[in-house]
Amino acid sequence: MSKKGKKVALVGIPNSGKTSLFNALTGLNQRVGNFSGVTVDRKSATLSLRGKSPVTLIDLPGTHTLYPSSEDEKITSEIIRDTTHQDHPDLVLCVVSALQLKRGLVLASQIIDLGMPMILVVNMMDLLDEGSVLDLSRLSYLLDAPVIGISVKQGSGLSTLKKTMGQNVPASSKPQLVIPSGFRLALNQVQESLQTENAYQAFQSLLSPQDKQKKEIEGLDEIQQSAGIKPEEAEELISNELTVRLDHASNLFDQVYLPEKSDKVNVSTLLDRVLLHPFYGYLIFLLILLTIFQSIFSWSSYPMDQIDLLMESIKGLVSAALPAGFFTDLLTEGVITGIAGIVVFIPQIAFLFFFISLMEESGYMARVVFLMDKIMKPFGFSGKSVIPLMGGMACAIPSIMMTRNIPNKSERIITIMVTPLMSCSARIPVYILLIAMLLPAESIFGIDQRGLFMTGLYLLGFVLSLAIAWIIKKLINQPSQYPFLMEMPDYQMPRWRNVGLTVFQKTKAFVLGAGKIILAISIILWFMVSFGPGEERDQIEQSYTEQLSQPNLSEDSVQELERQHASALLESSYAAKMGKFIEPVIKPLGYDWKIGISLICSFAAREVFVGTMSIIYAQESPDDSDDELASRDSLIGKMRQATDPETGKPVYTTAVLLSLLVFFAIAMQCMSTLAVTWTEAGWQWAAIMLAYLSVLAYLSSWSVFQLFS
Ligand code: GDP
Ligand code: MG
Repeated sequence: MSKKGKKVALVGIPNSGKTSLFNALTGLNQRVGNFSGVTVDRKSATLSLRGKSPVTLIDLPGTHTLYPSSEDEKITSEIIRDTTHQDHPDLVLCVVSALQLKRGLVLASQIIDLGMPMILVVNMMDLLDEGSVLDLSRLSYLLDAPVIGISVKQGSGLSTLKKTMGQNVPASSKPQLVIPSGFRLALNQVQESLQTENAYQAFQSLLSPQDKQKKEIEGLDEIQQSAGIKPEEAEELISNELTVRLDHASNLFDQVYLPEKSDKVNVSTLLDRVLLHPFYGYLIFLLILLTIFQSIFSWSSYPMDQIDLLMESIKGLVSAALPAGFFTDLLTEGVITGIAGIVVFIPQIAFLFFFISLMEESGYMARVVFLMDKIMKPFGFSGKSVIPLMGGMACAIPSIMMTRNIPNKSERIITIMVTPLMSCSARIPVYILLIAMLLPAESIFGIDQRGLFMTGLYLLGFVLSLAIAWIIKKLINQPSQYPFLMEMPDYQMPRWRNVGLTVFQKTKAFVLGAGKIILAISIILWFMVSFGPGEERDQIEQSYTEQLSQPNLSEDSVQELERQHASALLESSYAAKMGKFIEPVIKPLGYDWKIGISLICSFAAREVFVGTMSIIYAQESPDDSDDELASRDSLIGKMRQATDPETGKPVYTTAVLLSLLVFFAIAMQCMSTLAVTWTEAGWQWAAIMLAYLSVLAYLSSWSVFQLFS
């Protein structure tokens, strides 16, 4: 035991109430981080027990058994099995639901057999049918471990639990499973390598060694060979062990459960008849999805507008309060604009996570996975990928964060990698502008053809995402998985405190994680747009001052001069230099250097494209017009008139517009998405995402341009 006090870990199958118990015991005094090397939330807190030294409580990812079948489960299994792990607990609180005691006992028996001190916490006692009884003291005798019945919902049993946690809990003296004979020699050798007395620990390491142990255990391959254990046999032995444990657990359960005599039908079973129905189940899920996305689009637009206004006025206040100059510009155009670009996403992120956590809390999410798994698996997705993919149509950022719910690593990566192909809402202003230039507002068969075209772009993204997912699936070799015991949790009223905490923590994670990267890139972009080679800039300033000092300038011509000045400055900026620099590369797609600038700027965020275009084509009535539509129409007019200075032909031909639309549908032009991918999956995957989307966008736009010009 370290000086910091006992380490206590919450272990249990998913939805047994670990996090609820953790929250109930610790309140808001929590530290949230990641387990080292992986993006799985790690929640810990210090808990003081009356009259005892404080203990550190940690909430481990849910797991069905100690043989992991997903990334999350692996974390828990590693921490429990590896006695040298920094999070390895001195005491385990094995949390099981009173309604799923059998499943929970499988895990508990493994923990006991590892020789770890354990308290069995039987949660959700409130859900036990009236009249039914669980004889917990008998169970405690059978396991030789403390067993405490609680209900986090009603707050009952918590003080007894705390009291027991403060006491010295010895390891159980009753092994629950007999290790199959015939491995004596091998087990001895492994035990020696691991320096452990515990035969079951050695047995687990023999069948399913942790990555670390593969190196640690000397001659593991030979030991396995001489014991006659090939990979397939190891899986079979594991499967057998779990079956025996389940039998044993059933046996224990039958000894302690005294059911009420009645044939009342379970509400969850009734609900499932509809919600898991092969037709109505899907229909209801579709309706729920539509409702969620409707509300995300419409509800979050209101706070988003307010945030925009607020940030604009902060910007106004700051620039009014400070003297004009470099520092003020950096602050307003670089820093505040960057922060605005982060906080504006908060409403969408919060709403999406609100709904997701409702679905998780109520127990409906497990049904979604069940319904969608079969449909999604062939493409390399999980049943849980549906939500992030649909969410991608609103915004890829919260959607990628949501993939944390996907337990299988490769399914999670595949989902992350294709989510940016879904047409997000930031593409809409760009689509509207370009489609308006491409097509007149006429209808085909009574349907607005512009809308129809836009739907086509959404479909393009969707079809591409399926194709790419399928390809990545072929490239990544999915490792085989241990059998795991899946069970539908009962439906529940959501606990609002948990919902609130989830929304708060996810939003905070985004602002502090991806936010930093977004801010940095915003500032760099600001430098590139606002600065250029000195001499050229001096000349522009000089001629501007001269022109302004002409006598009798009308207000209109002053405004005109200002606009010319702004666009001259932009033309001489480093961003424009880059636009010209990349011109040879984008020429085959039909773009000139002006489009190049907009592409570079829209790397920050797609919607910046429209704004940059407006600056470049310094339009007639921009700033002082509040009417977005009018200013957009005048931008369209300007862009229509734009001609190539060499050939005199119009710049925005049908081929160029189509090529641009395809480019925007595919290309990775959102640094926030890259930043989130970076924090969620690692920079390597962010780099791969950027690379494959760029190549795909380039080739597609090129083909379209060649085809139509
Ligand atoms: P975890 O996956 O083990 O962390 O489980 P959670 O803490 O997320 O809880 C899963 C669900 O069980 C949530 O909907 C909780 O509101 C619910 N829950 C937790 N404890 C209780 C309880 O004592 N009684 C009831 N009825 N529900 C509970
Ligand atoms: Mg949890």
